[in-house]
Amino acid sequence: MSPSEETVPVTAGRRTVYLLILLILPVAALIAAVPAVWGWGIGVRDLVIMAVLYVICIFGIAVGYHRHFTHRAFRCRRPLRIALMIAGGLAVEGPVTLWAAEHRRHHKYADEPGDPHSPWRYGDSGMALLRGMLHAHVGWFYTARRRSSRAHWVPDLLADPDVRRFDAAYPAVAVLSFVLPAAAGGLWSMSWEGAWTALFWGGFVRYAVVHHVTWSVNSLAHTFGDRPFRTRDRSSNLRWVALLTLGEGWHNWHHAEPTCARHGVLRGQLDPSALLIRFFERSGWAFDVRWPDPARMERRQRR
Ligand SMILES: [Zn+2]
Ligand SMILES: [Zn+2]
Repeated sequence: MSPSEETVPVTAGRRTVYLLILLILPVAALIAAVPAVWGWGIGVRDLVIMAVLYVICIFGIAVGYHRHFTHRAFRCRRPLRIALMIAGGLAVEGPVTLWAAEHRRHHKYADEPGDPHSPWRYGDSGMALLRGMLHAHVGWFYTARRRSSRAHWVPDLLADPDVRRFDAAYPAVAVLSFVLPAAAGGLWSMSWEGAWTALFWGGFVRYAVVHHVTWSVNSLAHTFGDRPFRTRDRSSNLRWVALLTLGEGWHNWHHAEPTCARHGVLRGQLDPSALLIRFFERSGWAFDVRWPDPARMERRQRR
């Protein structure tokens, strides 16, 4: 397959939108949070709203966008599928088809030419690696002149009317990501001030934190950490990234066996996303779950 069929050009206008939504606004929110927490602190109400939305977004990305929609690690009932899609959409990381298309291309070319976000793109030396990590973390959103073609990478998702409806409604879901915390804060405190501070912490700061936590899998979990399994790429395990991403930081096994529903497969590797999938399975909402096969793990493990 030629790369020209795998990718499509991106217009300058769209790249500007990516620059604003994926780079400038989150960084501005994080910068604004420093004097805010210094000056006024953050109240329990805003902390709770922020934490709840953080967990919903991270699970939406990890369990929904990533393990279910991109890798088909399990199947699920329609209401759960739609709920996972909306939860992932609240993270404001793009419609599920675009996210999955880029990610499937990442797996095909991981850390080779063609990978949309490899930290090793510019070489192994200190400065080249630093530049590569910045590229893998956020730089590629703006610098890439071509995007993964959805028709090529995710025809299965495009064939699903629910996914197409969600893609069309995506801007509204992104707005909901900020309306929800504001409404929760306003109703909880019965004040406009409560709505505003919840919008700031539970909306803008949470969206920025969710973004950078997610992107750290691309930048850090392909650079640092241990690699207990043999893979063709440099995917690695980072405990603190796994903690923040609710299991996604166990990235080495994930590249060894991308369709597996559990990423943290070794002793002591907590994977809350896998626990949630197990809960869905026990409740009868998820089925055909691809749990790790001990024999395959054994074969893949480095000696
Ligand atoms: Zn990866
Ligand atoms: Zn993946």
